Amino acid sequence: MSELTMPSQVKNLMAKYGFSCRKSLGQNFLVDANIVNKIVGSAGITGNDTVVEIGPGLGVLTREAAAIARRVVAVEIDRQLIPILQETLADLENVQVVRGDALETDLNRLVYGENCSHPGSRPFIIMANLPYYITTPLILHILNGGYNFKVMVMMIQHEVARRLGAAPGTKDYGSLTVAVNYHAGVEFLFQVSRTVFIPKPEVDSAVVRLTRREKPAVDVPNQELFFKVVRGSFGQRRKTIQNALGSAFNSVDRAALSDILNAAGVEPGRRGETLSLEEFARIARGLAGLPE
Ligand code: SAM
Repeated sequence: MSELTMPSQVKNLMAKYGFSCRKSLGQNFLVDANIVNKIVGSAGITGNDTVVEIGPGLGVLTREAAAIARRVVAVEIDRQLIPILQETLADLENVQVVRGDALETDLNRLVYGENCSHPGSRPFIIMANLPYYITTPLILHILNGGYNFKVMVMMIQHEVARRLGAAPGTKDYGSLTVAVNYHAGVEFLFQVSRTVFIPKPEVDSAVVRLTRREKPAVDVPNQELFFKVVRGSFGQRRKTIQNALGSAFNSVDRAALSDILNAAGVEPGRRGETLSLEEFARIARGLAGLPE
């Protein structure tokens, strides 16, 4: 295990480069060898895999992943960390650090290059101790980006982890739950205490594994329409599904909407937050037959 899990060494390294952690970039560095091992171990990396790491920080996870993977490509937004990473990863030939914003990075291009299309290529693995300020947009960017990844192991706020795995009808269940489960299987792996970071974050964390589905969890005629149904249903949580969708699809008359809900097996007086993915999909299929 590298010296990057020793708090005193991490502090020395930061002092040597005059580096101070920036809260605005979610910079809380992991300094616990056991958690580092557990995260890297959960990604199922083999010697044939390419790992994309989002936000390598000082390189603690990068080093461990690089010891197993064929190649690691790490995207780091903070210019000040680049010379530090050049030092901490200097002995590793299979690591490439790219300075950039992960939210604006095309991960397929990063892995396969400019002209290489991904069909038939080996899917990659994504690993991240995510900067908390962009957790949701980054997850959605990755899931909606059409990227050829198979597994994403990430440390996120405990509260967001609960939302990803929430069941219909619970307070944590929402449009993020539906969006993530539509594209991926979700596993809550373990909790992480805030004491294993420098500096200590204000929230507890958890590690989750998303396994991308070969095809979406439910069959929908039109993905955009499906997500319009989902957003419409959760946008007004206190309304019945009939009223919430009546506002979101105001060109569909009330009786027709009621028929679609009944045909989908959804009682119009229910609240949107109690609906399963399959029920949202059945409504979207019913609406697809009508002009919007
Ligand atoms: N992986 C390291 C670790 O586990 O100690 C650092 C994790 S730290 C929570 C998040 C890292 O993501 C920081 O290095 C931060 O600079 C970087 N980061 C923040 N926003 C980013 C973005 N939009 N794109 C890429 N990296 C980002």
